[in-house]
Amino acid sequence: MLKPLNQEQSRVRAAGLDSRGSRSAPPRRLDKRKKIPVAAPCLAGNEKKYVLDCLNSTWISSSGRYVERFEIEFAKYCGARYATSCCNGTAALHLALLACGIKAGDEVIVPDMTYIASANAVGYCGARPVLIDCVKDTWNIDPSAIERSITSLTRAIIVVHLYGHSCDMGAILALAAANNLFVIEDAAEAIGTQYERRQVGALGDIGIFSFFGNKTITSGEGGAIVTNNKQLWKKARILKNQGMSPSRRYWFPTVGYNYRMTNIQAAIAVAQLERVDWHLAKRRRVANWYYEHLEELSGRIVLPIERPNTRHGFWMFSIRLKSSYRGITRDKLIKLLALDGIETRPVFHPLHSMPPYRSPGSKLLVSSLVGRTGLSLPTHGKMNQEDVRYITACLKRHLGIAAN
Ligand SMILES: *Cc1c(COP(=O)(O)O)cnc(C)c1O
Repeated sequence: MLKPLNQEQSRVRAAGLDSRGSRSAPPRRLDKRKKIPVAAPCLAGNEKKYVLDCLNSTWISSSGRYVERFEIEFAKYCGARYATSCCNGTAALHLALLACGIKAGDEVIVPDMTYIASANAVGYCGARPVLIDCVKDTWNIDPSAIERSITSLTRAIIVVHLYGHSCDMGAILALAAANNLFVIEDAAEAIGTQYERRQVGALGDIGIFSFFGNKTITSGEGGAIVTNNKQLWKKARILKNQGMSPSRRYWFPTVGYNYRMTNIQAAIAVAQLERVDWHLAKRRRVANWYYEHLEELSGRIVLPIERPNTRHGFWMFSIRLKSSYRGITRDKLIKLLALDGIETRPVFHPLHSMPPYRSPGSKLLVSSLVGRTGLSLPTHGKMNQEDVRYITACLKRHLGIAAN
């Protein structure tokens, strides 16, 4: 006999999303009104104190001691000689490319599976992004596919440590050295990620980070560049400050940009960086709970891996549906979870599928597959094990494994 539907099930039914009847009651949230966001900043350190300090001192614009302090401490954290802050991660990418001398007519290797900013910044320089497929286990750029795409116009490789997993830097750095190419690391999603026990971002010629609100540490909007190359650092600093000469005030030898970070943003960033290990440990704990509770689903979904010589930063815990179960595609699963009060997000659409970068003939099969079947589950420092238990129970229910 069918049990009467509760409100939640009726909604799911009414939306035509559930064809399985009421064979098991949905797992209940402890606090029904609470939704679980996919990302949320944690501002429980000195953020408020430092921001108030900016306000009280009136140092609210882009000069101030928090900007300097952040740059020194961020370089140190990344194991890099130099760092410079800027207004967001996309601007950081643009500055990194300009510092490397990328100009109109150049080609830059970019992974097909990434956030749009990685490719857009190449376009800002008048250069052309050449899209490369990803590998199936980490979803990161495939080094063996890079080699085939290098031409006489290629100047640089942008690698993206997607969702917090390091790229195969050994292979990429060797390729770049053999072909005389710059390596620009887009580490926007990968603060704290390690490759062979070293922080990513400082492994190539120049690396960039983002401190957008959903990133592992945030300053609201914000970005940074790290490098061991003094020339690249100097160029980036001049360009972010309207091209002003560092030795002669209001003298502009070159066309630059206003890409500066404010002291208020830097105040938040300093406070976040003070607790970066806490942020990383918390995300790793969330990931471990997911691994624990999703083991039973290993036939239906693919869980993220951590290659042996790397340390995952777990910006996002992202999974992939192996095959559709009873017609439940990735997009349908996202809708079902939304009705459970769980916000998720689809993995990036591969760049080659979007109008500015459309390339119909290209064979970017792995990134297409990942883009179609991948999704990121809520991953942030405000989650507890109850949240993960609830999310994974909902997942199991939708994918045909009875929740207990
Ligand atoms: C977030 C992000 C950026 C851009 O950062 P913004 O600060 O939002 O401009 C660049 N690349 C990747 C891979 C990102 O995830």
